[in-house]
Parts: sequence; C-alpha cells; structure tokens
Amino acid sequence: MPLYTFKCPACERTESAFRKIDARDLMPPLCSCEEAIAPFKIGMERIIEAPMVAPDIGAYQAVAVDVATGKPPVINSRSSHREFLKRNGYQEVGNERIGRKPGEVRGDFNLRKELTEATREVLGKRK
Ligand SMILES: [Zn+2]
Repeated sequence: MPLYTFKCPACERTESAFRKIDARDLMPPLCSCEEAIAPFKIGMERIIEAPMVAPDIGAYQAVAVDVATGKPPVINSRSSHREFLKRNGYQEVGNERIGRKPGEVRGDFNLRKELTEATREVLGKRK
C-alpha cells in the first residue's frame, strides 16, 4: 500500500497516510485546525510528489563461494544477492533486530557496591 501525502487547504498542514491506490482519494485525512468550524473538519487534499524509491545495492565481491561456479561471484543487484543466498543456502547475518531477549535482566543494580559491602561484611566478621 503506497504512502500518500495530504495537505490541508486551509492551514497547509501536511500528513502522510497509507491508502490503496484505487482508494487514495476516497477517504482523505481530516484536519481540525482553527480554520475548521467544529464539529466539521476539513478534508485534506492529496498532493503529488516524487515517489520514494530505494536504490539498488552497489556491486560487491562476495567472499563466499557460489555452488554454481565454485568461485565467489561479483553481486551487482539486490535480486542477484537474494538468488545467490538462496542458491547456496546462505543466511545473511548482521541485519538482525537488536532488542531485548526474552528473560534478559537489565538495569543498574549497582552490584559492585553491593558486592564490595558484602565482601567487607564477611571479611569483617572473620576478624
Ligand atoms: Zn488545517
């Protein structure tokens, strides 16, 4: 679903919204700016702007061997990159989401201070 930009004809505020292509003008976002007289809102107008296109990846020399040739290939597009990985059963690493793992305990528990105090207490009792 494409992302469209809409603009309020009264206050010129813009807003982005996902719409199906055939419904892009059916339900425009509504603006409730000062120009709108409550309870009415102003229907925003879709503005035409350059589409955002992700460029293809630049060519690179693979370090892994391709089963098709027995040599590391030069990859020159996103689709050939995907085909190369699939054909060889390779998995891309390093693009994983960095997040909290389940069960991971985080936080500042000031353990150093607690360990120091506990150690001093134990050592103090020995004397
Ligand atoms: Zn407005």
